[in-house]
Amino acid sequence: MKAILTLGIVLSLLIISASAQVPPIELIEAPPTEEQREEQIEICTQNLIAIGKSIQAYLKVNGDFPEWLSDLYHPRYLPDPDILICPADRVGGRAVFPRNIDPKMPVSYGYQFPSKHRERVQENRDMYGNVVPLVRCRHHGNEEFHCLNLNYAFNVKRSFSIWEATPEDLYESREEAIAAIEAGLQQQPDNERLSDHAYPALARLYIETGKPEKVEGLVNLFKSNISPNYPRHYLTLSTMLEMLERNEDILLLFMRLEKQDPNDRGVLRKLAEIHQELGNTELAGNTEKGLNLYRC
Ligand SMILES: [Zn+2]
Repeated sequence: MKAILTLGIVLSLLIISASAQVPPIELIEAPPTEEQREEQIEICTQNLIAIGKSIQAYLKVNGDFPEWLSDLYHPRYLPDPDILICPADRVGGRAVFPRNIDPKMPVSYGYQFPSKHRERVQENRDMYGNVVPLVRCRHHGNEEFHCLNLNYAFNVKRSFSIWEATPEDLYESREEAIAAIEAGLQQQPDNERLSDHAYPALARLYIETGKPEKVEGLVNLFKSNISPNYPRHYLTLSTMLEMLERNEDILLLFMRLEKQDPNDRGVLRKLAEIHQELGNTELAGNTEKGLNLYRC
């Protein structure tokens, strides 16, 4: 009897101690250390360079870019499929953006040149040259950069996700970026899709490299080529006028827009802000009141 009781106590203790074993060991993967992160970036960079070489080999034989990176998986172009997997990829061989996910096999990289995007990408290349990303890895996101990019010149550069906002990241220097965007804008000054990044980026680069006098000409080029009918365009113009500290011109711009559409809340908000900055407190208050009335 005593032996049975003792066995019962031992079993109970075993059950209690087993249920106390939390958390389970598997599934929770620790984030990489700084050293591991750097190593992953290095391996990924080498992968991208190898992918670039494979694309060049593919181009030579086929006279065109592949439709997807998985098309490179052929002994002739890419003997090792592991090159298509980034060591920082924690989602099992997938690009981060759904539209970039390779349909045929696990690929960590976002390919930017499938046929349905080629027209848009070609416009980007006409504007910025061969620095435009061809293959992007988004698995290393951190404060310094979001993407590793293989470009059309088959070099690897780091950039933020929206590289168009800081295109200089893709060039060797700011001067090189300026020369390329100047040439691009000469070729397509009226490209409305690209204008909202290209013009203000060039204006900012002019200022940062000590050529603020060139911004004036850029503003005029913008005004004579881009329709002011879309909010994003007049915001682009106002961004450039802000760089020149031309507050009165910004005021005139937004007063004109208010006349066109007195209920445009974005315009009213900006107008109140400009009045405030110019010290027109009463006008700022009246515009704010208009905004509030509209809200009711
Ligand atoms: Zn990577």
